[in-house]
Amino acid sequence: MENDNKPVISVKNLRKLYKPGNETVVALDRINLDIYKGEICCIFGTSGSGKSTLLNQLAALEKPTEGEVYIGNVPISRLNEDDLARFRQRYFGFVFQAYNLIPTMNAIENVAAPLMFRGIDKYTREEMAKQLLAKVGLEHRMHHYPREMSGGQQQRVGIARALITKPKIIFADEPTGNLDTKTTNEVIEMIRDFAVKYQSTVILVSHEPDLAEYATRVVTLMDGNIVDDKRK
Ligand code: ADP
Ligand code: MG
Repeated sequence: MENDNKPVISVKNLRKLYKPGNETVVALDRINLDIYKGEICCIFGTSGSGKSTLLNQLAALEKPTEGEVYIGNVPISRLNEDDLARFRQRYFGFVFQAYNLIPTMNAIENVAAPLMFRGIDKYTREEMAKQLLAKVGLEHRMHHYPREMSGGQQQRVGIARALITKPKIIFADEPTGNLDTKTTNEVIEMIRDFAVKYQSTVILVSHEPDLAEYATRVVTLMDGNIVDDKRK
């Protein structure tokens, strides 16, 4: 079904080598992968299989050693840093395991922050942030700072911040790594419901089979190669 469309993300012969000291680590061997609009694609595999390296390449957080990554028609692996930064702000949302909230900002300010680059005034930004915080169940924590919230609450703030720009692609690297089972399910359902509503594409990195259950497609990595690719 998805194959009638052009891919949102297209990876061509991607290789990534790291050279710590005088050894060479083949983190990604030769990856070819097309991901389509609306897919919730889990990048699955054991620790060290290359999942985070692949996510970092898809989001152009690192340059490939060889090969290309296209987002739509744009060869993002060839953009310069300024163009890349703009591209990420415009199209991508990120959710990380370590939340990466700004400690000196409260929940509203953290969530509103990505809108600063969009020419939206402060009042409107904060109203939008409040609405989204209410949707993720934090209406009573809006004025709290990260240190005043639990891990699960901080991650919900992180998700609201990632979603406030209605990103075309959501990148989530082990987003529930520090959370209990109940909060894990809530967090992942939030991401999924948002993706369905706004037709966003999700790249979800995880080593947890339970999380892969939420995906529409599971791409399994082993030693930097794709060893399995299943759609549900
Ligand atoms: P995963 O996310 O699946 O646990 P990673 O993508 O982080 O795996 O790592 C894949 C391989 O690349 C591992 O062997 C790891 O040690 C190596 N690696 C990752 N990042 C670096 C780096 N910056 N320098 C050297 N080796 C790295
Ligand atoms: Mg990782």
